[in-house]
Amino acid sequence: MKKHNFGAGPSILPQEVFEQSAQACLDYNGIGLSLLEISHRSKEFTAILEESLALIKELLHVPDDYSILFLQGGANMQFNMIPYNILNDDETADFVETDIWSTRAEEETRLYGKTNIIASSKEANFNYIPKDFKVDEHATYLHLTSNNTIYGTEFFEDKQYAIPVVCDMSSDIFSRPVDISKYHLIYAGAQKNLGCAGITLIIIKNEWLGRSKRPKSKMWDYSIYAKNNSLYNTPPVFTIYTCLLTLRWLKKLGGLSEMENRNKAKAALLYAEIDRNPLFTGHAVPEDRSRMNINFVSTHPEDEEAFLEFVKPYGIHGIKGYRTVGGFRASCYNALPIESVQVLVDAMQAFEQSK
Ligand SMILES: *Cc1c(COP(=O)(O)O)cnc(C)c1O
Repeated sequence: MKKHNFGAGPSILPQEVFEQSAQACLDYNGIGLSLLEISHRSKEFTAILEESLALIKELLHVPDDYSILFLQGGANMQFNMIPYNILNDDETADFVETDIWSTRAEEETRLYGKTNIIASSKEANFNYIPKDFKVDEHATYLHLTSNNTIYGTEFFEDKQYAIPVVCDMSSDIFSRPVDISKYHLIYAGAQKNLGCAGITLIIIKNEWLGRSKRPKSKMWDYSIYAKNNSLYNTPPVFTIYTCLLTLRWLKKLGGLSEMENRNKAKAALLYAEIDRNPLFTGHAVPEDRSRMNINFVSTHPEDEEAFLEFVKPYGIHGIKGYRTVGGFRASCYNALPIESVQVLVDAMQAFEQSK
């Protein structure tokens, strides 16, 4: 039986993506060769790469003065690569600290320039999004993490700030329409909403390519990837193919507005049960609740282990919370059907009745 996969990442992808990518490993489009054994410069792979980039541009309405890049090394590598490429030694980046990912990004940035944490919700175990912060108008950029995968809070608005914005969208990219023009750089590891692990998507405003003055290593330089259409060296071809299949699925379903509606419906269903059921308590404050990662704890801590056991016969996978929050985290990424959320809600109700 296929389980209901609430894992935080790598995570569920559409079933047809699993099937079609498995088939491509055996025989890609009937050419008598596996996708895994053909050149990344073959006409087959070139077509995969071009269609992927075109679909990203189409689905996110990426303006023409931006480049779309596929890099390796995960979002964690971007914590370092962004300041290396953008920030000069004497310049400052502002950070809003909303989880450990923004903390890590800030730490890496200090290797190249100055940083300033202008707002943080750390004192409340990151259960809200700070809102009344003031950016330093002399800073080079503001760094945000749009969805806080571990703590379950999310920025839903693409706001205009006085300075350029860099945003880690690893866990909510493609979950809603985004106004790309409000950002100078967006980055996202693939393994939550886009495809299997192995690439990071970068969308960067062209005027920022080559911005920092330090001499750069080629593999570490955004402009090399932009010039070479992300083919400076061998890219992870299989990962990119899973991204293409996911993007085709997104388009077929109606694109990002439809995805947003579905994600809103799933989140509303689960949060309503968390709020109704006396055995559970939500972690994030209601106005900042993430649609992607829904965190909640047992009202009576001694129930926690029992509930994790209780859900097993329902085929529910991956709801154990991250150690710094405890309790439960139900990740409801794009590919998770609302039927799976309903199964979790049913289990929560049955658990209440079993008491
Ligand atoms: C998962 C995640 C990361 C880490 O990504 P890696 O690809 O493992 O480096 C960073 N930021 C956010 C918001 C995430 O959800």
